[in-house]
Amino acid sequence: CGIVGYIGPNEATDFLLEGLRRLEYRGYDSSGVATIHNGDLAVTKTAGRIDDLARTLKQYPAPGTIGLGHTRWATHGPATDENAHPHIGGRRVLALVHNGVIENFRVLKQKLTQLGYTFSTSTDTEVIAQLLDYELQQCQAAARDEEQITEPYAMLVEAMQATLSQLRGTYGLAVVFRDWPDVLLAARLGSPLVIGIGDGEHFIASDQSPLVGRADKIVFLADHELAVVTAKSIRVVNRDAGDVHHTVKMLEVDE
Ligand code: GLU
Repeated sequence: CGIVGYIGPNEATDFLLEGLRRLEYRGYDSSGVATIHNGDLAVTKTAGRIDDLARTLKQYPAPGTIGLGHTRWATHGPATDENAHPHIGGRRVLALVHNGVIENFRVLKQKLTQLGYTFSTSTDTEVIAQLLDYELQQCQAAARDEEQITEPYAMLVEAMQATLSQLRGTYGLAVVFRDWPDVLLAARLGSPLVIGIGDGEHFIASDQSPLVGRADKIVFLADHELAVVTAKSIRVVNRDAGDVHHTVKMLEVDE
């Protein structure tokens, strides 16, 4: 239902919790955040209110200057702690949040199960996380064979493109990778996503409300686009082709 993301010099959960609160008006049944800290992914999620999530985070802080947050409105799988987003891919190498519905998730789940993947939730979303893990492994194996030095994050983009091209349905997505703690990927098809440009930091949100007061310049992602976002740069790529020129607009605040 709602997505937020942060990358920059500050503690991610400060923006993530505030952003999720600003998205509460859309309704939700569960919430969660993921951050990367000291080479590890920390995922905190719960069925229930954002206040419950905030209380847990107070007790067990999730430090890190990169992170994702989500409010879920369940479409597939009941509103349980496990089914809350973020979802973890494979060997705990990535965390992903998703808005929308993956219509062919059963077919993908079957394919991944045959490849040895086990699923810990009953959501449609978890297949994206596991499929991305699988595609990333394929890309890593190919890169090792070729021993070529490619542009930064080329492997992540390739794995993401391979994953997205297999999905039927709608998605707004954001992903962080444990082993690439300085980049955040976002993609959309039929579910809105915006990127807020701050001073040496970037924000991601499913609508503009979390960005007010944080970033006055924004980039709207279009359908079939994916964005590679670092603290200092934004690159937008078409899902099936090359780079896309993105335009920066000013955030309009209703008085
Ligand atoms: N289909 C996903 C789920 O049920 C995402 C729902 C949403 O957009 O919050 O987990």
